[in-house]
Amino acid sequence: MSARPASDALPGTDAGTASSAAALPAGTDAALRDVVGPKGVIEGGDLAQRLEEWRGKWRGRTPLALAPASTAEVARIVRICADARIAITPQGGNTGLVGGQTPTNGEVLILLHRMNRIRSVDPLDATMTLDAGVTLAAAQDAAASADRLFPLSIGSEGTCQIGGIVSTNAGGVNVIRYGNTRDLVLGLEAVTAAGEIWNGLKRLRKDNTGYDLKQLLIGGEGTLGIVTAATVKLFPRPKEKATALVGLASPAAALELLALAQDASGGQTTSFELISGAAYDLCVRNVPGVRHALAGRHAWHVLFEFSSGQIGVLRPMLEALLADAYARGLVADGVIAESEAQAHDLWRMRHALSEAMKPEGLQAKHDVSAPLSDVPRFLELADAGVERACPGARVIAFGHLGDGNIHYDVLRPAGVDDAAFRARLRDVEAAVYAAVDAVDGSISAEHGVGLARRDDLATRKDPAALAMMRSVKAALDPHGIMNPGKMLR
Ligand SMILES: Cc1cc2nc3c(=O)[nH]c(=O)nc-3n(C[C@H](O)[C@H](O)[C@H](O)COP(=O)(O)OP(=O)(O)OC[C@H]3O[C@@H](n4cnc5c(N)ncnc54)[C@H](O)[C@@H]3O)c2cc1C
Repeated sequence: MSARPASDALPGTDAGTASSAAALPAGTDAALRDVVGPKGVIEGGDLAQRLEEWRGKWRGRTPLALAPASTAEVARIVRICADARIAITPQGGNTGLVGGQTPTNGEVLILLHRMNRIRSVDPLDATMTLDAGVTLAAAQDAAASADRLFPLSIGSEGTCQIGGIVSTNAGGVNVIRYGNTRDLVLGLEAVTAAGEIWNGLKRLRKDNTGYDLKQLLIGGEGTLGIVTAATVKLFPRPKEKATALVGLASPAAALELLALAQDASGGQTTSFELISGAAYDLCVRNVPGVRHALAGRHAWHVLFEFSSGQIGVLRPMLEALLADAYARGLVADGVIAESEAQAHDLWRMRHALSEAMKPEGLQAKHDVSAPLSDVPRFLELADAGVERACPGARVIAFGHLGDGNIHYDVLRPAGVDDAAFRARLRDVEAAVYAAVDAVDGSISAEHGVGLARRDDLATRKDPAALAMMRSVKAALDPHGIMNPGKMLR
């Protein structure tokens, strides 16, 4: 059995190019509205915002956008849609970067923001259970109010939601210490494609009772079911953090510094972010309030942070590490944040990098990963390949070096217009992917597949793995109503 392809449109979808979606049958439309009541039908300006991806890359259309207030309402909606074979797209904070949250084929849009209850915070279990529509920032605050840490941290945390981070297996800046979302989730509650409620909100650290179903939904991009709640792990709250920014000559030097930092901190390195000089310059130019923190200019920078449950240990540790790194010639200049405000300013630069790219027009974005030790080789190969494919193109590279994850963005060369650059994009992408292949890396490290990488996945993923993915999709969503056309064709 295979899942229905995107082009084979379901009733309730219009895979054509019309600017508005085909209306639902009147009885179905009324039944769906009835589930959520007037408060749960999203229309007008609120809906327009939800139909557009934040950078304007994808625009969707929908016959109906519903914001259920409970898991039971989600289940009733999905059951009606399943019976009528109507396609659904779930959406959280609409901050996804690969188009997965946009109803591009006229799907019914399910918005989770009204489900925003912190169900429980248990410091003894070190767990927290949250509705899918709780924002990541609110989840962090809820943990902090119980003197615990929920460590996931990404630039969109004020807006993205628990259901979204689970469904994209979000990563971010603390993965090196705490893992990504996949490592942080203990249990899930979800509504299946048949409209059944699966209560898998376990708080167990060990549970070997067969297939780990939650792991299918984590990173599932809404293609297998709708996540309605999650139980996540909490950690002791660090009592102290130490943050530093250094300038260095090469990614190879940064990699050596990472090994030294891990040794020096005894595993307390919480973040280790690589930022090219060009990326930093762009941020200073395009984001108000961001300034260069080091006196000179450097080809590369690392922003890194240690955190500890003890007070007074980190600063001497960091100073000794930097002295060692200077002595070895790894670091050319550096600054240690003297206050929380200074640390905040350094992080502001890192978090504003996506925003800094926005005014730069057409660009080829890549979110790739490589084995740690191969990151320098990946960058060398990609730079050379991109220069061959599009001479003069500007490369903006930054990312989570501690996880081998590089955001490798290619900007239009000076003097080349968008049309000429667009004609080169395929070649640019091929060059970057060739470099990924050379180091046995991944073409999507943390942003997922969605629409942006779907066709690449179809041609590049191991055929046996693709066949298993299709079997899972067909088994859990036999009518292909869950976010069809995303991730898999
Ligand atoms: C400035 C900025 C910085 C970012 N930094 C990072 C980063 O460092 N690391 C990182 O990993 N990502 C990053 N992202 C990407 C994005 O924020 C994450 O992918 C985030 O997890 C998406 O959450 P969301 O709630 O906005 O989901 P959405 O964008 O609404 O949806 C994303 C996907 O999840 C599905 N989905 C959403 N909610 C549900 C649900 N309840 N049930 C089932 N499916 C659902 C959607 O259908 C879609 O396929 C960044 C984005 C921005 C704008």
